[in-house]
Amino acid sequence: MKVYDLAIVGSGMGGSMLASLNKEKHIIVFEKDSNLGGCASTFKRFGNYYNSGATTLVGYEKNHPLKEIFDRANVNLDLEKSEIAIRVVQNGKTIDRVKDFEEFLVNIEKVYPNKNNRVFWQKIKELDEKFWSLKKLYYSKYSLKAYLKTFLSVCELLKVYKFDLFKSAKSFIKESLGEISKEYQDFIDAQLLITLQTTSKDISLLSLALGLAYPFHDVFYVKGGMGTIFDELLNKSDVHKKEEVLEVIQEEDIFTIVTKKDKYKAKKVVLNSTIYDSNKLFKDEKIKSYYQQFSFNDQSAFLLNLTVKTSFAFLSHYQIILKENIPFSISNSFFVSTSLKEDDKMSKNGISITISTHTKANLWFNLEKEEYKKRKKVVETFIIDKFLEYFDKIDKEEILISFSGTSKTFNRYINRANCGGKAITLKNIFKVPSCKTPIKGLYNVGDTIFAGQGWPGVALGVKILEEELNG
Ligand SMILES: Cc1cc2nc3c(=O)[nH]c(=O)nc-3n(C[C@H](O)[C@H](O)[C@H](O)COP(=O)(O)OP(=O)(O)OC[C@H]3O[C@@H](n4cnc5c(N)ncnc54)[C@H](O)[C@@H]3O)c2cc1C
Repeated sequence: MKVYDLAIVGSGMGGSMLASLNKEKHIIVFEKDSNLGGCASTFKRFGNYYNSGATTLVGYEKNHPLKEIFDRANVNLDLEKSEIAIRVVQNGKTIDRVKDFEEFLVNIEKVYPNKNNRVFWQKIKELDEKFWSLKKLYYSKYSLKAYLKTFLSVCELLKVYKFDLFKSAKSFIKESLGEISKEYQDFIDAQLLITLQTTSKDISLLSLALGLAYPFHDVFYVKGGMGTIFDELLNKSDVHKKEEVLEVIQEEDIFTIVTKKDKYKAKKVVLNSTIYDSNKLFKDEKIKSYYQQFSFNDQSAFLLNLTVKTSFAFLSHYQIILKENIPFSISNSFFVSTSLKEDDKMSKNGISITISTHTKANLWFNLEKEEYKKRKKVVETFIIDKFLEYFDKIDKEEILISFSGTSKTFNRYINRANCGGKAITLKNIFKVPSCKTPIKGLYNVGDTIFAGQGWPGVALGVKILEEELNG
């Protein structure tokens, strides 16, 4: 039997970026679903295309790991820059998150005047810029070299950030902005939910900065759907779609990978499954218990996909913040992404819209079928009503198609009930999973592993894993 150099379980951002950097090796990629890309895939339903989760490409700029990876992999993309990264709508007011700092400051001052807005947002921008220009950024465990490189990285962090590294988000907000209104706090927290899956309550100042600063970067719309990136990343790889890996067995220096269809052998295995689900792939008690130490993160997403036949000129991204919480969710906001009119594939029969909000996986499991369907309908109706309330130029009849997905849907298609990793806080920083495991030849990649979720976070994790594998 052929022995592959590397087997990658999953074609999410992590698995696909890693595969693209290792094209010259004998690698094999297994994907359970018929679409590539996991939470960032594009799928077809009722003759139309929809994004399954991720809709924004950030980090495709100089000095960013993502750009470096895409350039090395020769990825050819059709991108459109979103001049307004997000239009935030709250209590009938609009705050456009734009890249230009002075313009953004004018926008925020109009809605939330505060004599220290400049100080606060300048610091957020500065801390984020410093992070992406760090030279030794590294986090890994389980070998002397990994610990040493991590130590050097921490030393660099200390040198660059000094006392700011130990500040909490909460105290920084208070010391810079003072007591702020619930609405201003909601504005900050709603954006953190998108990027970090948590609020400012118990995160560090650095996480706050990384979470709030993304609209200060170039933000892109991907023509043809986010999924086209994965076709590009994997175009020269041996990809086995619709082939779920059921078991991984370690035998001395070789792994046997048992799928629904066949058995394969590889010298190294990289798991793009979540850190919470990977234990299911092993019978070996030592490996199982390594994965079981990571307690399940209950955060997940509720997805609503629409096709809307309208002449209304949408921006690419909106965040609608409400006064009340969305039913069966943990949020009072939802994120709306729309396809560009001129995107022939995504907008063929109308504008393709992806709406998402934050929920808990446990709200959707172990329910009677009727109760599950009822909950789904309640959330769907609530969001559509609020959507139509804001976009009042759109008639209900113009929504040609609508359907939704819960944690259960994510689990059915891509084997994950949770969405997003645990935000790195001051309390958990040393418990964060690393790409390297204590098991020789076995690695992790993806948004539940350092450095976290979204294109920039996963790309950074891929860069570190690439160094671990080949450095
Ligand atoms: C609603 C939502 C909106 C988001 N919006 C954005 C955004 O706009 N921009 C952004 O940058 N990020 C966004 N994110 C975050 C981003 O999508 C994720 O962080 C990222 O896609 C996760 O990538 P990953 O590498 O962890 O892989 P995943 O997406 O988890 O993919 C893992 C893949 O592995 C496969 N797999 C798992 N187990 C097996 C197995 N046993 N055998 C074979 N295959 C297997 C799965 O089918 C899946 O395809 C969003 C996330 C969500 C949920």
